[in-house]
Amino acid sequence: MTAQAPWTEETSASEVDRIVAAAVEAARHLAQSTPAERVGWLDAAADALEKVSEELVALAAKETHLPEQPRLRGEMVRTVFQLRLFAQALTDGEFLRAAVDHAEPAWPMGPRPDIRRMTVPIGPVLVFTASNFPLTLSVAGHDTAAALAAGCPAVIKAHPGHPELSARTFEVLAQALTEAGAPEGIVGIVYGVESGVTALRHPGIAAAAFTGSEAGGRALFDIANARPRPIPFYGELGSVNPVVVTEAAIAARGADIATGYVGSFTLGAGQFCTKPGLLLLPKGHGLEEQLRAAVASTGAQQLLNDRIAAGFRAGLSRLVEHSSVTELTHPADSASSERYTPEANSAAAFGPTLLSVSADAFLADTESLDVECFGPVSLIVEYDGPQQLRAVLDKLEPGLTATLHAEESDADQVRALLPTLTALSGRLIWNGWPTGITLSWAQQHGGPYPATTTPQFTSMGTAAIDRFLRPVAWQGFPEALLPEPLQDANPWGVPRRVDGQR
Ligand code: NAP
Repeated sequence: MTAQAPWTEETSASEVDRIVAAAVEAARHLAQSTPAERVGWLDAAADALEKVSEELVALAAKETHLPEQPRLRGEMVRTVFQLRLFAQALTDGEFLRAAVDHAEPAWPMGPRPDIRRMTVPIGPVLVFTASNFPLTLSVAGHDTAAALAAGCPAVIKAHPGHPELSARTFEVLAQALTEAGAPEGIVGIVYGVESGVTALRHPGIAAAAFTGSEAGGRALFDIANARPRPIPFYGELGSVNPVVVTEAAIAARGADIATGYVGSFTLGAGQFCTKPGLLLLPKGHGLEEQLRAAVASTGAQQLLNDRIAAGFRAGLSRLVEHSSVTELTHPADSASSERYTPEANSAAAFGPTLLSVSADAFLADTESLDVECFGPVSLIVEYDGPQQLRAVLDKLEPGLTATLHAEESDADQVRALLPTLTALSGRLIWNGWPTGITLSWAQQHGGPYPATTTPQFTSMGTAAIDRFLRPVAWQGFPEALLPEPLQDANPWGVPRRVDGQR
């Protein structure tokens, strides 16, 4: 451990300036680094974190209310895996999106010069870490891994929910990277709410990534855009994640859907951005008993920290007290009868709460009911026929995911719904649940605002690297001055489109 506890004080403006200046200097070196060098750095970071995984899991358990097994141990595996996955994603050079167009005097719109395009690192990235995944979406988490893979230094804003873990993870990460040959300043860390804003306004920062609340993300997005030189702000904000169930699916496997749904909305005490917050069931579904039984067999869980618990109580109280909403199950808040008041004991463990509303009432006040409530609560909307289902979907805010539980015999109904669901979300799920997010090449974790501030990108999966790359074209350059991936000899052997052909 470091001698002092760096997280106990807000990082001063002058220290933020020093850290960003070091990142700017490191960016110059990183722009010249090869993907092969970066593979070595990422693998070294993964190895180092893996070696101290027991210590990090113990720190995470101390600072959050997340259970070690399987949750934090699973997160640790994922954290190490994603660093190695990004290393793997660098090896074939696909991420460079290289294209070569040789000079073509007979080009139909007029003679074409020799022009060649590929991506380069965008520059120092400011990473606002998330509270709900203290390992995999934090200091050495997915955004940091994507930035480093792209060849960008990462200035990390530590989350106050797990400061000691953040400091220790940073220490291990920074040491592993520099020992593997990466330049000093490739990673930096700042503590305190103001330090994040100071860094975001710093002219040396070229992009920012964020996972958290809609209010926080929007405030920071506006700051990024109000800079004299605005920068891309990749915010992953909130999502309600509707699940649509058809009559045929209920007839075929209603009980499984009830248990699967309760398992999904209570996973991690409902603190997943992909928690299914709305279940759209056909009127007369008859699943009440199965749903109540599934809820009754799910234990109460503590929320991450006081702030999240207070936010949950406030959101839950707004939903429960809505005049059209009924409680299908009663919450088992173990610590207080004042379970909805923000002052109630924050250490309380919350049992799941399942609420229900008719589609008519939902349509009459969608603004109050189509809301993310971070914690173990979900709302069932009972729709009366396909037309009303469409009307409900048409009124929803976009999100990260949309899920369908249907049968092959529903093909026509599903085909009619797909354009709406596609417009609503970044990931469509067939007969599964949205909470688990695998990391791979085809993953898409994003969606139109308010799911994210940049719907054309993903914040998870290997394609997340695209956020930190900027395309550049070289026109008329001699072979010797071109970057290797664009030279005719293609010495790195990267995949390219040459004169329009693959
Ligand atoms: P948050 O309040 O949005 O904070 C996330 C990070 O951004 C923190 O480091 C925070 O700094 C910083 N931040 C937020 N607003 C800011 C502002 N106006 N100016 C400067 N910095 C700001 O998220 P949280 O603490 O993780 O959890 C709160 C809520 O976020 C939850 O109840 C939930 O609704 C939502 N959430 C969503 C996701 C998701 O996956 N989309 C994940 C986690 C949480 P400080 O903490 O130092 O103020």
